[in-house]
Amino acid sequence: MLYLKNLVYHPAATPTAILKQINLELAPQQIGLVIGPSGSGKSTLLEMLAGLVEPTAGQIFWREQELTDVHLQQLSGLVFQFPERHFCGGSVLEELRLGHPELKAEQINRALQEVGLAHLPLHTSPESLSGGQQRRLALAVQLIRQPYLLLLDEPTAGLDWSMRRQLVNLLAKLKADWSLLVVTHDAGELLAIADRCWTLDHGKLQSIDPNLLRAKAEQPPDSSFSAGSIR
Ligand code: ADP
Ligand code: MG
Repeated sequence: MLYLKNLVYHPAATPTAILKQINLELAPQQIGLVIGPSGSGKSTLLEMLAGLVEPTAGQIFWREQELTDVHLQQLSGLVFQFPERHFCGGSVLEELRLGHPELKAEQINRALQEVGLAHLPLHTSPESLSGGQQRRLALAVQLIRQPYLLLLDEPTAGLDWSMRRQLVNLLAKLKADWSLLVVTHDAGELLAIADRCWTLDHGKLQSIDPNLLRAKAEQPPDSSFSAGSIR
């Protein structure tokens, strides 16, 4: 169970806090979805949970244990927005082994199996993969480290409809073994698989019933709520 308690991020250079008194709970084997417009603090929140940014105030717990940056770096696996832009391996195998030369073939195969890429030859260049396959590879790179918490920044951005569907199905499957926290500006298909939802606006997080959002997303387009997205 992940708990964020009164988490604040307020760098000295900014007039107002970027994250304001954030409280959040996420149970194991759940998908949490944070929906907020561009600049609302979504990526900053994930970077904090990945131990890359230190909170100004507040606490992060896993069960009863308070977590430091170092704990968070071990516990979390962060998949950045457009992760394929950060690939640096010449092959699928190299990409998975980066920083982990000790990994055994069995661990590599298991990670590729998890994301439905077990059929790919290991010498395939990451650049030659389809957009959807690249996203799957980026997920495998994190899964191979066996994190407790998987953090995904705009995982469906830039994918076409069918690849988005495939990715959403994969995330629903991964939920059986991991806790996932997903942030997005456009909930779209992700709403269908969310167990918990929050809106983030100017750094303020507010819990919202996912069923309510799903019902609103199904309303005709002329309603006051635009389908699946909050702005
Ligand atoms: P989102 O991912 O929702 O688009 P971000 O988390 O990237 O939002 O950014 C939230 C706001 O915080 C933006 O206005 C961004 O410019 C600002 N910001 C992020 N990190 C810092 C920092 N270290 N110092 C100053 N401003 C920052
Ligand atoms: Mg962002």
